Amino acid sequence: MKKKRVLSGIQPSGKLHLGNLFGALENWVKLQDQYDCFFFIADLHALTTGYDQTKDLPTYTHEVAVDLLAAGLDPERCTIFKQSDIPEHAELHLLFSMITPLPWLERVPTYKSKIEELKEKDLGTYGFLGYPVLQAADILIYKADFVPVGEDQLPHLELTREIARRFNFLYKEVFPEPKGLLTEMPVFPGIDGRKMSKSYNNTIALSDSPEVVHKKVNQMITDPARVKKDDPGHPDVCTVFTFHKYFNQPRLKLIEQECKSAARGCVQCKKEFLEHLLEYLKPLQERRKALEGHPDKLKKILGTGAKNARQIASQTLTEAKQAMGLS
Ligand code: SF4
Repeated sequence: MKKKRVLSGIQPSGKLHLGNLFGALENWVKLQDQYDCFFFIADLHALTTGYDQTKDLPTYTHEVAVDLLAAGLDPERCTIFKQSDIPEHAELHLLFSMITPLPWLERVPTYKSKIEELKEKDLGTYGFLGYPVLQAADILIYKADFVPVGEDQLPHLELTREIARRFNFLYKEVFPEPKGLLTEMPVFPGIDGRKMSKSYNNTIALSDSPEVVHKKVNQMITDPARVKKDDPGHPDVCTVFTFHKYFNQPRLKLIEQECKSAARGCVQCKKEFLEHLLEYLKPLQERRKALEGHPDKLKKILGTGAKNARQIASQTLTEAKQAMGLS
């Protein structure tokens, strides 16, 4: 039976970190065996919020490609490519922008919140307002059946579905409406306890060396009320404990009891977590090392991915243009 198609992308804004791993990549790795998966590096999307900072874009794109493969995406089992290698995304975006009413874009919840959040950036551009249209083009050009989303991203997907409906109504039934593949996307803490994010400078990158990881674990915020080792701790407010949930499940109950009864100190607790984290990162970093020595291999993987993706994208674009009377 033909597998259903899944599509998802990630912006190249630097090295990927544990938050990306648990928020998306681990799930992608699982999906690649169940679905016909298309994963892309969204370099055009990076321009919507950073059109004036493109100097590092090639490096970031390279880093993300390496991280995706190191995390376990297998080019034999999924299609991996760079968005700008498929010009059909941009062309379909243009066609969709002709039929998308402005109020649909202005009401997207993240439009206003991002403008507030990223005050230092110039987001008063057509490209930024129109990024959900580009997202719709990314998804619909592959006629994806599913898009992995967290609950908070459902409004974005709904906009894609609305654009597909409007196109099909105005011209001809070309685009199936994709569904959300609801995925638990936990908010992963950074070393300072806030959400792990490059903008907070609190990440542990997948490519950080053991020495850097060690330093960052030492900086982690624990229970602020625990001043001395014999003060009973509160694991529920401790960042290190949250990390143990991901990396040290079998010993979680014991750690909780020992923390609450002051039978374990934070130094020992961090040391135990560090050992698990380094063990976890080891195979990723070995795969990364193997790729770093072979840039041609990476180029070939992205080239093959782009070729596969483009075959489908150009077919869909032809159908869309014919439906619109353009060919
Ligand atoms: S013992 Fe562990 S869980 Fe308890 S406060 Fe210290 S680091 Fe956190």
